[in-house]
Amino acid sequence: MKLFHKKYIVIILVLIQLSCQKSENNSKEAIFNSDRAYSILEEFLKIGPRVPGTDTHLKAKDFLFNFLKKQTDFCKTQEGKGYNPFAQDSVKLANIIASFNENQSNRVLLCAHWDSRPVADNDPDTNYRNLPILGANDAGGAVAILLHIAELINRAEFDFGIDIILFDGEDLGQHFSNTHWLQGSKLFVKENPDYKPQWGILLDLCTEKDLKIKKEMYSYYYARWLVDKIWNIAYELGLDIFSNEIGSPVYDDHINFLYIKIPVIDIIDIQYKQWHTHLDDINQISKENMGKVGGLVLECLKRYNSGNW
Ligand SMILES: [Zn+2]
Repeated sequence: MKLFHKKYIVIILVLIQLSCQKSENNSKEAIFNSDRAYSILEEFLKIGPRVPGTDTHLKAKDFLFNFLKKQTDFCKTQEGKGYNPFAQDSVKLANIIASFNENQSNRVLLCAHWDSRPVADNDPDTNYRNLPILGANDAGGAVAILLHIAELINRAEFDFGIDIILFDGEDLGQHFSNTHWLQGSKLFVKENPDYKPQWGILLDLCTEKDLKIKKEMYSYYYARWLVDKIWNIAYELGLDIFSNEIGSPVYDDHINFLYIKIPVIDIIDIQYKQWHTHLDDINQISKENMGKVGGLVLECLKRYNSGNW
């Protein structure tokens, strides 16, 4: 009888161990790999500047759409007309939208802008200011993070819906003016009035080497609960690039969602020396920091899924 008991105990222990191993394996499958994200970025940047109205913009659009189409059947573009004030001409814009668990009403938005700026307003060499920038950190790195997360979402088996939206026409505005920026996200919000995700994260200027991410002021003012939640997770994960300081307000794509009371926060470090210059290339990018930001976004999704949020 005693021996019999022992046998049962052994069987139960083995079963417990097996089930632990199973859940451990599942969670292991969705771990952010900074090498992978960095190599996606390298490939993406090889296409060249992504200025609406140019051939390389169309090539980049195809690259993004084909990449996301491999991750989900529910991938589409939202085409629309925009305006380039530098060329004083209308341009074709395309937001790229990849949805996971498309029938779930409980949804989360992850977004970044995929276009790059037609001019290099801040370039130290005034001869080159009229040429388009590559935008490695603005916001190629953010796009690469989201592309890699798209690869991980199916493996993680989240119960809620996720939309990865890459906005076009974010960087067509002129400095010291609020017009012509954020054209893609404005178009998206206008044509999708019923879209109401529970919360969202915008990534922009968040992959450079000298990164210190403060709490962006609009995010903090309009969606403080979300900022605090995400910064607490960053703190728990020991991510030293996140600072508790309140940063400057940044007029970015999240504004179009905050205006209609959808909490979308901006993870951004606007103190970027190479901002809107030709120096914003792969040399500014930190693979390690891409891993930290991407890992944090993935951790937020995991916690939301588990209810420990
Ligand atoms: Zn920019």
